[in-house]
Amino acid sequence: MTQFIINRKKTKKIRIGHVAVGGDAPVSVQSMTNTYTQDIVQTVAQVKRLEEAGCEIVRVAVPDEEAANAISSIKKSISIPLIADIHFDYRLAIASARAGADGLRINPGNIGSKKKIKAVVDCAKDHNLPIRIGINAGSLEKDILKKSNGSVTAQAMVESARRNIDLLGTFDFDRIKLSIKASDVPRTIEAYRLLSKKTDFPLHVGVTEAGTLFSGTVKSSLGIGMLLAEGIGDTIRVSLSRDPVDEIRVGYEILKALKIREHGPEIISCPTCGRCNIPLFDIVDKVEDALLSSLLPIKIAIMGCVVNGPGEAKEADLGIAGGDGKGILFKKGKVIRSFPEEKLVENLLSEFEKIQNEHSK
Ligand code: SF4
Repeated sequence: MTQFIINRKKTKKIRIGHVAVGGDAPVSVQSMTNTYTQDIVQTVAQVKRLEEAGCEIVRVAVPDEEAANAISSIKKSISIPLIADIHFDYRLAIASARAGADGLRINPGNIGSKKKIKAVVDCAKDHNLPIRIGINAGSLEKDILKKSNGSVTAQAMVESARRNIDLLGTFDFDRIKLSIKASDVPRTIEAYRLLSKKTDFPLHVGVTEAGTLFSGTVKSSLGIGMLLAEGIGDTIRVSLSRDPVDEIRVGYEILKALKIREHGPEIISCPTCGRCNIPLFDIVDKVEDALLSSLLPIKIAIMGCVVNGPGEAKEADLGIAGGDGKGILFKKGKVIRSFPEEKLVENLLSEFEKIQNEHSK
């Protein structure tokens, strides 16, 4: 059997606070808060929940000076690096850097004159901050759009990215990370493929405005997943119209599915069929919620019948199956205990805890 191997493109390594991005650093998972940044209490609470879910870098919107100033208080209460997301007003980038942001995200196309961009770059240099150039399909420069007859092609997006890399280069700045997002998968993939051939700067990969939990998860899994499988991408953000904690969960599932990173248990469960007579979907939800913050990378199976379950899931380190009032716990397909059906979750979680304790010794 041939093995699927991902040859990750070697990019330049940069640092965002204490997190390395690019080079041989693990592909990191990030998200963005959807609180008002000015609301320090709510924003800190959301970042804490994101940290708990495994978020490694967080971005906050900085729409005004109050939001920029809030960064210094927010930073005191969180442990992961914070990136300030700036549109239009270069002074907010400078205020955010001074308030302690660990990185800046700008779209130079909407910041304005070279003088303003230089002011942002100079400030980033003074504070040792990286800048993400975020190219979005929705905000390309007018002259570039004109050349492509008004259509936002992947080539036009890459031209915008290269222009902005060159511009930052003229200010002798190379602590750069790039993103080049469209809201549809084919164009996003094409743009990142093209960009990856043209630059060695680390790439932040995502499909922008991906959508609801269902459609956004599918789009992100395809867009981010296909690129990662081709070795493209150093940090990822899944974009969902949801609680950002779900973005982190989906992000790690993508990395786990491609075997790029381990992050907590992998839960496999059967789709159920006419042989299942236990509330399997409820059981899966309960187990998934209970193990959300665990980092132990073992495979757990939750199967809908005792006859086929253990055999179908014999690759799992630990599993449960149930039916007709009876529940069983198995390890690598071998039944190690049986109990009443209503104790399925309880037995699985207590055995999991035992394994987790052994691992942490
Ligand atoms: S494990 Fe049992 S219930 Fe689940 S799909 Fe297979 S046969 Fe059906």
